[in-house]
Amino acid sequence: MSTQEVDYSPVFEILEDIFGDYKNHNDYRCQVSFDCPVCSHDIKSLDHGDGKGNLEVNYKYGVYKCWVCAETHDTHGSIYKLIKKHGNPKQLKKYLLLKPDEDEEANKRTYKPVRLPKEFVAFKDASMGMKLTPQYKQAHNYIKKRNITDLMLQIYGIGFCMGGQYEHRIIVPSYDENRRLNYFIARSYLQKTKRKYMNPEVQKEIIIFNEHLINWDEPVYIVEGAFDSIFLPNSIPMLGKFMSDHLFMTLYQKAKKIMIVLDPDAYNDQERLYHRLNCGKLMGKVWSIKLEGDKDIADLQGNISEYKLKQLD
Ligand SMILES: [Zn+2]
Repeated sequence: MSTQEVDYSPVFEILEDIFGDYKNHNDYRCQVSFDCPVCSHDIKSLDHGDGKGNLEVNYKYGVYKCWVCAETHDTHGSIYKLIKKHGNPKQLKKYLLLKPDEDEEANKRTYKPVRLPKEFVAFKDASMGMKLTPQYKQAHNYIKKRNITDLMLQIYGIGFCMGGQYEHRIIVPSYDENRRLNYFIARSYLQKTKRKYMNPEVQKEIIIFNEHLINWDEPVYIVEGAFDSIFLPNSIPMLGKFMSDHLFMTLYQKAKKIMIVLDPDAYNDQERLYHRLNCGKLMGKVWSIKLEGDKDIADLQGNISEYKLKQLD
């Protein structure tokens, strides 16, 4: 299965619109630097950029920071804040259309505790009465269609919502190494939906999905989506096509052997990730597993040895 590909280029264009030519751009990390308008105009009273490129923006994580005046002039926070301050209303409106979740709250970027929706019911705990409801039947049909077994439902505590804002969604909870809830995936099971996923607002980049299920002494599989991880024991989903620095560091510290299995359409990303991971003490302990054609992880059904293992050099 494929997680939706995110195109960040419209956000990048808005930034260029506001701040002009960039100094450095790392499109793999979605990071770009511009002359800081606060340093240039407010501090140095220039009517052009100061040529330093100290304003760093990460348009994937939606955050920015000036390396010089962040502390003294509060030049850091969400992209929403940045555009609101330095862009025009038209640019802000354009940004909000691209990122409808962004609002003032995003400025705070606090580590809010995550709770499961109050309407949440785990499949394994559904009562007989609940099993007769259309909500249960629809949700359970979807589970069967995706070949998710009762055992998987039990191991991962997968459930659905009887109502509320997460109605018509399958919920896959994530618990950290101490079995504290740190995230959940809420995927729509309706044919037509405006938002396939509606996940809680937390910093995805600091989460290791279901770390409590990981045995670091065994090979750890790296996959894209939360649903992929259900089908492959001892796997960690990146929750996207790119690996966060936090996951990278954790793997580097804890993993003994790593197998990367992204969707076939992301094979270039997979090769790049392979080269990023296969260094230092992980050298020679990372494997890149190529899925054939349109196969995805659900097709493997935990029987990965049948598939061709390919180690890149
Ligand atoms: Zn600055």
